[in-house]
Amino acid sequence: MHIRVEHALECVIGSLFAVKQSVHQPITFLEAGPTGPLGIDSAFYIERPPVEAFAYNAIARPGSLLRIKAPKQMGKSSLLMRVMEQAQQQGHQTCKIDFLQAEKACFDSLDTLLRWFCRLTARQLGLAPDLDDWWDEAIGSKVSCTIYFENHLLRQLDAPLVLVINEVNRVFEYEEVAGDFLSLLRFWHEQAQRSPLWQNLRLVLAYCTEVYVPLKLEQSPFNVGQQLKLPPFTTVQVQELAERYQVPQQLGEAYVPFTDELMALVGGHPYLTHTLLAQLPGTAENPKTLLEQAMQPTGIWGEYLRRCYASIRQQPDLIDALQQLANAPNGLKLPLHLAYQLESVGIIQYNGDRYQVSCALFQRYLAAELAEVETAAPVQLHQENQRLKQLANTDALTQIPNRRAFDLRLQIAWQRLSQTTEPLTLMMCDIDHFKTYNDTYGHLAGDQCLRQVAHILRTNTRTAPDFVARFGGEEFAVILPNTDLLAAEKRAEILRSQISTQTARGDMPRVTVSIGVAVAFSATNQTPNQFIEVADRVLYESKRLGRDRVTVISLL
Ligand code: GH3
Ligand code: MG
Ligand code: MG
Repeated sequence: MHIRVEHALECVIGSLFAVKQSVHQPITFLEAGPTGPLGIDSAFYIERPPVEAFAYNAIARPGSLLRIKAPKQMGKSSLLMRVMEQAQQQGHQTCKIDFLQAEKACFDSLDTLLRWFCRLTARQLGLAPDLDDWWDEAIGSKVSCTIYFENHLLRQLDAPLVLVINEVNRVFEYEEVAGDFLSLLRFWHEQAQRSPLWQNLRLVLAYCTEVYVPLKLEQSPFNVGQQLKLPPFTTVQVQELAERYQVPQQLGEAYVPFTDELMALVGGHPYLTHTLLAQLPGTAENPKTLLEQAMQPTGIWGEYLRRCYASIRQQPDLIDALQQLANAPNGLKLPLHLAYQLESVGIIQYNGDRYQVSCALFQRYLAAELAEVETAAPVQLHQENQRLKQLANTDALTQIPNRRAFDLRLQIAWQRLSQTTEPLTLMMCDIDHFKTYNDTYGHLAGDQCLRQVAHILRTNTRTAPDFVARFGGEEFAVILPNTDLLAAEKRAEILRSQISTQTARGDMPRVTVSIGVAVAFSATNQTPNQFIEVADRVLYESKRLGRDRVTVISLL
């Protein structure tokens, strides 16, 4: 990744100079609306080198794609305003599509979404939409949209177009259209390598959470171009903002301990830092009291915290995850679908390989709220809920996870596969001649046999993330994340031979299993169901070849 630091420094020096000027004149605090994006001329916009320079450089490059990732209220919109301003200064055309403005109906179908997208772009560029001139149902909406962009938009413009798409995460929520829409963006980006006209398109995608849509690696716009993560303010940046509000002059000796405490509480979170500092000028309160008040439900952070929490409190899964996180100072691994929601709100952040609560303020707030959840729900009720949840995911006969739990686990493993380079193994195991076993020894003996096979599979599989479930009838499924072909074959062979030897030991007749093993290295198949089909196919190959054996297939 290439970052031009000198340019960033110039920007900072430039902005410092702008502030120095304003310090000599009385600042009108009304201008500093910390709740919304900060206008281009705001004296309260703090640069976060090398963030701005990195973004400005990116849009100057032909055919570029810049991804800006940050939770809500981290300053994404303020940065996007500056990126657009910079683009205009570079002589580019600009257009901003904000998916928060899209009504739900826009996502009804890919066609509706793409038409909305094209119409909005054309209007902002001052061009007549004229969609019907280019849209041809027979060739499909993706191709129509591409032809429209190329011929109706890019060809008519006499300058590069910087297309900013904000809140892309909103699209993630509409599975039926998300894959197609995102792969179209990727396709446009790739067109730039072939066509000078498409080099005029520079894409800026802004979103507030990890990508949650399973996409083939070669179709995703999230593994090409350049990524920019918007970090919280550093201590120096917090101090810079404090100076712009003339806090040092106001607090005197109390200034340094105050900024330290603020930093320790909110970890440089731009919105929380800014709202508090904006309160200071002119207040007679001492700063410690001010911080205490801010944390109160009626305080200036109270509303923000409540809003964050309100978006998750209705979902027991999320509350459960938060409860576990609150008790795990070193963080936790979380299933993607839970992390997605918590991260987009900004309550948690991803640190290398696990998630943590973002800052001490959230930690305190959550501790108080979660304690209330516990007291509001008597212990018995909580235990009952846990028991019901367990029941819903457990197979009654064998007491191992059931098909429902399996589907969810495979879905998560499949999503991970599209984001990592680790291989994923799926085994399907089917008991041989089980109908004859039932017919000969009776159904109850058959049930006992199923329990024994489940037990053997479970005790010969490592703990999480490895996973064994009853898939249905006399079939079992094993998911082994991060397991390659060779390891998968060995593991399957152990399971096969353990079943054959251990079932021979007791009073019951021996059974054998046939196993089909599929190993995927990337989300090459469209869906987890297709992955299951492949594993099933090789399972039947094991049957065809005489049963009591393992057949392996690799999806390259
Ligand atoms: P193959 O070797 O080709 O797999 O033959 P099979 O006899 O095992 O396969 P088939 O699909 O013909 O029969 C599966 C049998 O599994 C029939 C069904 O009664 C039995 N089965 C499914 N679920 C249960 C259960 O919960 N308990 C018992 N006892 N039997 C079950
Ligand atoms: Mg079967
Ligand atoms: Mg069978």
